[in-house]
Amino acid sequence: MAYVCASCNREFQDKDFQAALSTGSVRCTYCGGKSLFKKTPPVARVVKAV
Ligand SMILES: [Zn+2]
Repeated sequence: MAYVCASCNREFQDKDFQAALSTGSVRCTYCGGKSLFKKTPPVARVVKAV
């Protein structure tokens, strides 16, 4: 799972996100922005073959 900063659009890997969590406040390590959101992969659907 990756996260993206809403301010500078930089990506974080989950381990970096967890590292930020451990500091007590989640924020972008690049710009200090507090808005991070999950980056969802473009292909996420599973189509069942019937
Ligand atoms: Zn940022």
